[in-house]
Amino acid sequence: MLSVQNYSYHNHTDFSDGIDSLIAMVKRAKEIGFAELGISDHLIVHKNMYQSPSWADMQQKSAAYIYNADFKSILDKYRYHCDEIRRLSRSENFKLYVGFEVDYFTYDGWEEEFKWFVSQLDYDYLQSGNHFFCNESCEKIINMANFLLLCQDNQLQYKYIAQHFSILKKAVESRMFKFLAHFDYLKRFCGNAYRFDLFKNDIAVVLDGLQQTQTALEVSTKGLRKAGELYPGAEILQETAKRDIAVIINDDAHCAAELGMSFDKAEAELVKYGITKRLKF
Ligand SMILES: [Zn+2]
Ligand SMILES: [Zn+2]
Repeated sequence: MLSVQNYSYHNHTDFSDGIDSLIAMVKRAKEIGFAELGISDHLIVHKNMYQSPSWADMQQKSAAYIYNADFKSILDKYRYHCDEIRRLSRSENFKLYVGFEVDYFTYDGWEEEFKWFVSQLDYDYLQSGNHFFCNESCEKIINMANFLLLCQDNQLQYKYIAQHFSILKKAVESRMFKFLAHFDYLKRFCGNAYRFDLFKNDIAVVLDGLQQTQTALEVSTKGLRKAGELYPGAEILQETAKRDIAVIINDDAHCAAELGMSFDKAEAELVKYGITKRLKF
């Protein structure tokens, strides 16, 4: 019988854009027999967040507060969140890791501020998960969710997507992240502007980076729910199998009911590609 991973490290609570509380997530994790759980709510800070052409759309969302323009003003909130996870881990006698899903930006000064910010937090790990396209200086960002609406020029679309992979490469090379989340998340939003074969060299460079830095690659069952296949899809998994890269199956749960969802399918896919190395803290 296929053994199925009984933990996941990419989960959201109502601290960010999840629906359920931390305690509801923990109760469900116990119920389905998870041995441990990583809580990785969003950490998204870009100095020009509110100048983004996407902001008009983003500010309509119920969880628009997850998008921030400076680190200092959110520090207390994030510190409290870390403490709350530690407290609950003790009171529930259940292993919880404190993580954050970070949108990595490359404009001058971002990384210094980011490092200062996380140095103030009692956390265990960071995962890289980008949800924006950036121009070359990374001063301007466009949310992937409305990319095709806001950027209709084919050449510009190509530039933004290539730039995205180059930012992921830098994120991986920073060695700050334990794993790269939803590598080809963009496929859900890019229509014909993204195909694996158009960007296979850019993708190979990121995969090489994962191998060199021993950063893991997330295999997300959320892709099955949102994009009809895992994140990442078949071609990238094939390329992963050729390299020495660990994977981690995650659900990217935004509610308790999504915990562990379709992990059996993800395990079967990994067997199919011969991917055996697994990240476990
Ligand atoms: Zn994400
Ligand atoms: Zn997520």
